[in-house]
Amino acid sequence: MTTAMMAEPRGGFHELALSPPLMEALERAGYREPTPIQAAFIPEALTGRDVIGQAQTGTGKTAAFLLPFLNQWRDENRPGPQALILAPTRELVVQVAEEAAKLSPHSRCRAVPIYGGQRFRQQLTQLQRGCNIAVGSPGRVLDHLSRGTLSLQNVRYVVLDEADRMLDIGFRPDIEKILRRCPQPRQTLLLSATLPPPVLRLAQRYMVEPLNINLSPAKVTVENIRQTYFTVDEDRKFDLLLKVFERDEPRQCIIFCERKRWVEDVYRMLRKHRQRVAAMHGDLPQSLRNRIMQGFRDGKIVYLVATDVVGRGIDVKNISHVINYDIPIDPENYVHRIGRTGRIGADGIAIAFITPEQGDQLTAIEHYINKQIECEEISGFQTYRTRVRPDGDTPRASQPVFGRSIKRYSKRV
Ligand code: AMP
Repeated sequence: MTTAMMAEPRGGFHELALSPPLMEALERAGYREPTPIQAAFIPEALTGRDVIGQAQTGTGKTAAFLLPFLNQWRDENRPGPQALILAPTRELVVQVAEEAAKLSPHSRCRAVPIYGGQRFRQQLTQLQRGCNIAVGSPGRVLDHLSRGTLSLQNVRYVVLDEADRMLDIGFRPDIEKILRRCPQPRQTLLLSATLPPPVLRLAQRYMVEPLNINLSPAKVTVENIRQTYFTVDEDRKFDLLLKVFERDEPRQCIIFCERKRWVEDVYRMLRKHRQRVAAMHGDLPQSLRNRIMQGFRDGKIVYLVATDVVGRGIDVKNISHVINYDIPIDPENYVHRIGRTGRIGADGIAIAFITPEQGDQLTAIEHYINKQIECEEISGFQTYRTRVRPDGDTPRASQPVFGRSIKRYSKRV
């Protein structure tokens, strides 16, 4: 169905033959060289064909799918958006709209973010003021469509960003309803970290002979991220966290927990020891989530305790540390989480807290990333009680994890 192609990075932005106003916008944004996904994706998308880009966030994928549209966009005063971008989370929607504004030629192409949790009226006013690119989460976009406050009749360019994630969340019916209302002919682009069968089925149905550009996660992960783990008993995790902070004094740090309640617990405890701490999860009101993300982006918040709601797509350049206070059950999420650090050109540190029972989970992650994660200790600090392993041996720091059970539970982030 798709033509596969491994991405081969090519030369600088001038080789992409982009329009002079767009080159100026790139200059203003400080983008000098295309990232590998941009170098591979943009020339194909510029031909007008449908393209699938297999790339993670942090690789420059947003500009990869925005630039081909911005290059051909002309200020023609047509009503309604000419591009529609669907993204899974509110934070990502806002971020894509911001990137579009940053790269807009002559700053005239208007991108409007459309997401739940924000006042409908407010979005309507923004849409009525003029919208060239509608960036939205599927649910809210559909809302506007059914109320007749958004028209897709002039849309010629559709992007499904983080398609795998959107399907995971259950947006498939909404996405399909929206795609059916997007006119033909159009160009459809799909970005996804992984291409499991449901994503491929979606592509098969709504794209025309897409070219698949593969910058798979294993290749782009995390070369510049130092990954380590501690073996630690559940009830020692918090003390270990403080020790790590004392040792490293992170510039900015995300502490990932698996559940909202655990986020709140760690947040409350951490607030007593450190300043500039915030918590982030799906139960917080949207306005507060926006303020927290802004505070984190501005560097006013140093420690962000969070669920996977910030696991993907969120781009904050200054993050030096990602702590997996609880490791994710899904190895793919591990890669997304640690990708919050080590953004383009920067180095990062990812530390996982592994309880002695989570050996299998650690192994699964190591297989997934095809790399062994280094074990570390802080001298003089005991992270787990010495126990006798089932085979009678005592766990050592270099070989500490044992146990076969992976606890499964349902979770909402
Ligand atoms: P993304 O993967 O789209 O989330 O992008 C990650 C970060 O890289 C964002 O902050 C972008 O602004 C930045 N970025 C994207 N393309 C380039 C580039 N060619 N040069 C420098 N930074 C870039």
